[in-house]
Amino acid sequence: MTDNIQIAKKGDIEIRIIRDTCISAGPCTVYAPDTFDLDDEGIAIIKNGDWDSFEKIFEAAKSCPVMAIEVYKDGKKVYPEN
Ligand code: SF4
Repeated sequence: MTDNIQIAKKGDIEIRIIRDTCISAGPCTVYAPDTFDLDDEGIAIIKNGDWDSFEKIFEAAKSCPVMAIEVYKDGKKVYPEN
């Protein structure tokens, strides 16, 4: 059970970061640098401003070794698949 989840939405894309799960590995910030950043404690956050393309965000979510990033499109969860 976790309550430390950041949720952000832009257009038809919604991203959730399960911050308690994040292990600061960082590849999300490489695949989608305009969307993800690390906070002062090295835990991923979703940035304000213009995000990367959906494809980049999707790749970033897939790159996370602990599946701490969930991606929704048009209200449907597209990653992880269940
Ligand atoms: S890839 Fe996953 S574990 Fe690494 S910083 Fe991003 S959310 Fe955290």
